Amino acid sequence: MRTSWRKKAADTAVAARPDLLERLAVQTADRVRAQLQRRLRIVTGVEGPFVETGGRRLLTFCSNDYLGLARDPRLIAAWKQAADVSGVGSGSAHLICGHRSEHAELEEALAEWTGRERALLFSTGYMANLGVMQALLQRGEPCVQDKLNHACLLDGAQLAGATLKRYPHADVEAAARQLHGDADACALLATDGVFSMDGDIAPLRELAELCSREGATLMVDDAHGLGVLGDDGAGSATEASLSEREVPVLMATLGKALGCSGAFVAGSASLIDGLIQFARTYIYTTAMPPALAAATHCAVTLARTENWRREKLQALIRRFRHGAQQLGLPLMPSRTAIQPLLLGDAQRAMDTSRALEAQGLLVVAIRPPTVPQGQARLRITLSAAHEEAHVDRLLDALASLPLTDATV
Ligand code: PMP
Repeated sequence: MRTSWRKKAADTAVAARPDLLERLAVQTADRVRAQLQRRLRIVTGVEGPFVETGGRRLLTFCSNDYLGLARDPRLIAAWKQAADVSGVGSGSAHLICGHRSEHAELEEALAEWTGRERALLFSTGYMANLGVMQALLQRGEPCVQDKLNHACLLDGAQLAGATLKRYPHADVEAAARQLHGDADACALLATDGVFSMDGDIAPLRELAELCSREGATLMVDDAHGLGVLGDDGAGSATEASLSEREVPVLMATLGKALGCSGAFVAGSASLIDGLIQFARTYIYTTAMPPALAAATHCAVTLARTENWRREKLQALIRRFRHGAQQLGLPLMPSRTAIQPLLLGDAQRAMDTSRALEAQGLLVVAIRPPTVPQGQARLRITLSAAHEEAHVDRLLDALASLPLTDATV
């Protein structure tokens, strides 16, 4: 009788090898035991800043739709119109036959907005950062980064095999020491423009001066600054009056203030040509749907021209901060849409988030490992989709909770 492949496999199996899936299950169980597990929730409806989930309607303070564009009827119309003409999927990578006129027009608009020679679309911000780092950096070259940079900047340096050096948050002197130690090598200094979990803005001018002194290249990830900062929303680099020469690698995402999805890198024509040749996350992936590019183009026009959105957002930020200060809440030093309350203990952050949810508010708790140990927080985000009454409702709910004795 023939031995089945199963039996053969069992006979030859290396019994001592630990099972990968079992190990993962143990790690997951550990997380659940520590009450640090991440949970998915299904949203069944969205209306302005409200979501419907689990049969309830919750007022959200956790979306990154900072300008309230995600449901703008003009974006939806642009999407539908382009889908009628171009279909849904792009069909292939940009370099095969997926690069459509919608993509090219969006890239032009993004380059013009950010004052850069050219721009290049990526399917997500995560992929953009991986691609840039892997294209620019060679094995062992220094990549100096703020300790609080987004995970994908850290992962990008690791993927490139660069020597990752992390300086204490916003500490330009420490960054200088790290760069100086490697004066002969090509070096990249990468920073978030606005820090995603803290909401503060990087010391961009000082970092640009440092890079120019040290001959290093500065890369700014402006995922949370684009649309929010700068005169026409062109972001943190523009607000700091930094040109392409001073910030030669500018990256930003399209899924936050622009209310869409995807990302781009903007810079010189030679940077963009180089990325097209060498950025693997650009080359080996399907181009974003052309209808999404068309909707995003519409979002760029609105974000640039509808200043009232930024003004309204800033007024809501001021209202929230003023109210929170009156209540003695543990605010962080931020003037952006990200207004976290630092609670310290992970359990306390979870309990507070649950207590707010019981009052009809959705505010997520951010815990380690996303933030450092002992720095769990509520990541409150404000949006031009909110009204003053929404902010007041949040403040009333926060006032009803024991939050002023935070031990951080
Ligand atoms: N950079 C920063 C600073 C971010 O906050 C994020 C996402 N939250 C990303 C990059 C990744 O962008 P995306 O969601 O488009 O992958």
